[in-house]
Amino acid sequence: SGKWVKAMEIVKEFEESCRTPISKLKQVADAMTVEMHAGLASEGGSKLKMLITYVDSLPTGNEKGLFYALDLGGTNFRVLRVLLGGKDGGILKQQFKEVSIPPNKMTGSSAELFDYIAAELAKFVAQEEDDFKPTSGRLRELGFTFSFPVMQTSIASGTLLRWTKGFSIDETVGQDVVAELTKALERQGLEMRVSALVNDTVGTLAGGKYANNDVVVSVILGTGSNAAYVERAQAIPKWHGLLPKSGEMVINMEWGNFRSSHLPLTEYDQALDAESLNPGEQIYEKVISGMYLGEIFRRVLCRMAEEAFFGDVVPPKLKEPFILGTPVMSAMHHDTSPDLKVVANNLKDILEISNTSLKMRKVIVQFCDIVATRGARLSAAGLLGILKKMGRDTIKEGEKQKTVIAMDGGLYEHYEEYRNSLENCLKELLGEEVCKTIKIEHSNDGSGIGAALLAASHSQYL
Ligand code: ADP
Ligand code: MG
Repeated sequence: SGKWVKAMEIVKEFEESCRTPISKLKQVADAMTVEMHAGLASEGGSKLKMLITYVDSLPTGNEKGLFYALDLGGTNFRVLRVLLGGKDGGILKQQFKEVSIPPNKMTGSSAELFDYIAAELAKFVAQEEDDFKPTSGRLRELGFTFSFPVMQTSIASGTLLRWTKGFSIDETVGQDVVAELTKALERQGLEMRVSALVNDTVGTLAGGKYANNDVVVSVILGTGSNAAYVERAQAIPKWHGLLPKSGEMVINMEWGNFRSSHLPLTEYDQALDAESLNPGEQIYEKVISGMYLGEIFRRVLCRMAEEAFFGDVVPPKLKEPFILGTPVMSAMHHDTSPDLKVVANNLKDILEISNTSLKMRKVIVQFCDIVATRGARLSAAGLLGILKKMGRDTIKEGEKQKTVIAMDGGLYEHYEEYRNSLENCLKELLGEEVCKTIKIEHSNDGSGIGAALLAASHSQYL
């Protein structure tokens, strides 16, 4: 019928505008490398902030004692305590708790958000067991993983540049987030010192390095997306401080804000961006990360519905922004039942759409595939950009260099098609020989442990 023909046209057009051939991905990678240089050259030199983290050395394995970590950066926050064994001791014991953040706390006042976090942390501290207490007379120390763009002023202070990922509290912007947290801890009567402020990418890098000495890059693919890596201090022209002894500095790229004319963006991406809390910002993040993939998918389905794909009226639920989360999209994408039952059930339960034909459901799965594949391949291209900047995209004569990328985030962890597509694409981009020297390691909650490790190496009792 005419309706089906029109639907197929939309599919075709969408597929076409999302194409990511290798030639295009290489342009994206090159653009990433160029922007990295620009962001390191001067403050404000690029959309990539390339933030200096004040982490000039990663964990060595000698870290020792009880440390806390608090991880705030998305839909949940985590509190964690670890007992580090010192030289070759490893992690002797660890406990954590995950708490979801009520949406109203993400857009209310600064004090409300930090009070909520501090209160949860206080409850967790109150549950310390006898063999899991700080040395007497010592303050508890905390690594604060805070996954938003922060201009650091030292290892344990930094001002918030802006919120991302659905958080929006104007009064926090420009404030020192460690001071905000410390005040909230005081209001709770909780005596604790924030010894390190780290981005989740930096925490993941530190945790990854502790587990595997070849880790030099970290990438987060969760609600949002970001990356960090170890840079040579001399290659950071905008750094005017003393060169660190190690000669190195970890850079928090804030790669979510990358954009390039080479990115294949569609009308759906434009609309999503325009209607987002942060229009014009985080464009790369908006095509590759978990917060947005399901929403892009919903927008395409909505367009189909306007062509009467689901009957004469657009199903009202389909008009609700963010009603289709990426986990649901992923479940549909992975539906292996012959009649696509998972797709049918989700359409019915979430969107109140019933009576879809198998043919329609196949088209819907195809949309999932297009959206996820584009995101995965673009993140592989970004990764190639970093490897190029580090000179690790080629093999040097006589060198047996290994490069390990610590990867974390719910999207990478749970969306198998996405993960496979990313890994295959990276292989394709690097070629077989180089690929043997590069490894992606899933670092399960490395960022919490990493923050605790950095709190340990910056302890006031050292
Ligand atoms: P955060 O990024 O908020 O710190 P996570 O790393 O746990 O938290 O990532 C959570 C994100 O991962 C979710 O917002 C969602 O987009 C994505 N995600 C979680 N589970 C799945 C799943 N089963 N399939 C696809 N994506 C998922
Ligand atoms: Mg996280």
